[in-house]
Amino acid sequence: MPVPIPGNPLGYTLVYAVESSGGPVLVDAGWSAPEAWAALRDGLASIGVAVSDVRGVVVTHYHPDHSGLAGRVREESGGWIAMHEDDIAIIRMFRDVVRDGTHRSLQADMMRRAGADVEEADDAVAQRPDPPALPDLPLRDGDLIDVPGRKMRTIWTPGHSPGHICLHLEDADRVFTGDHVLPAITPHIGIYPYDRSDVDPLGDFLASLERVAELGPMEGLPAHEFTFPDVAARAAEIVDHHDVKLAGLHTLMSALDEPLTIWEIAGRMTWNKPWDQLSPMLRGMAAGEAAAHLRALEARGVIKRTADDPVRFAVHSC
Ligand SMILES: [Zn+2]
Ligand SMILES: [Zn+2]
Repeated sequence: MPVPIPGNPLGYTLVYAVESSGGPVLVDAGWSAPEAWAALRDGLASIGVAVSDVRGVVVTHYHPDHSGLAGRVREESGGWIAMHEDDIAIIRMFRDVVRDGTHRSLQADMMRRAGADVEEADDAVAQRPDPPALPDLPLRDGDLIDVPGRKMRTIWTPGHSPGHICLHLEDADRVFTGDHVLPAITPHIGIYPYDRSDVDPLGDFLASLERVAELGPMEGLPAHEFTFPDVAARAAEIVDHHDVKLAGLHTLMSALDEPLTIWEIAGRMTWNKPWDQLSPMLRGMAAGEAAAHLRALEARGVIKRTADDPVRFAVHSC
């Protein structure tokens, strides 16, 4: 059932209910807003399910358009919330920085370090929704979800988030893909803070696409847009998309005569709108995406960062 995300061009999150002998299990829950809650409740009612019947909610990743309403479902049903342990760790951290009031300054500081000017960084610090409820069931790769009489297995697919999971419904030959594989768009892959060099989310994402492609042709049930017939084929297309983007970035970097900051490089990359027409928040996300592509090229040994300034990059000869 589509659960609206107010004010977001994605439109809605698709929430699925999986029947079982012990009550329905939801895959994702949707954004926390009154109209979203009404849509979820009415959508469940239309298939004969009351919120109080729900056995549990398995959340594909911590983002608020997936986890937002999980807490409210748990309150009304007494069920569980399951999520990969790496994303539970992020929710814990998020709850801590919101509680002690440092969330906004941490985010603005990250942007300034990457090369944004002070005013731009302050503008980009968006109003964030409240942190989601803390899940009770941590998941790891290969874990079976508690869906009595069914077989639904966790496939850890880091990239879009560190603990993103897909769920393979083995008894029905379908895979819930969350935001990992979407039929027409590609998910955001970013590094936050931008200057981290201890992670490679784009490298992880590409490896995770190979993982779901290995399942073979199978119907995909994504969290946005619409269901699609062949997860493996779509995963291969997304790998190609990033290969082209990485090659383009390599060409751009090869033409530089001095190292540039992540922010400056993001300003020269191609986005779906010209850089100066992107809102401050979208620029912040574009910089995160640039950072992930730069880090992937660095991990492949194609470019390097300046030793004394970790937000500046150049090709090896520069
Ligand atoms: Zn997401
Ligand atoms: Zn999403």
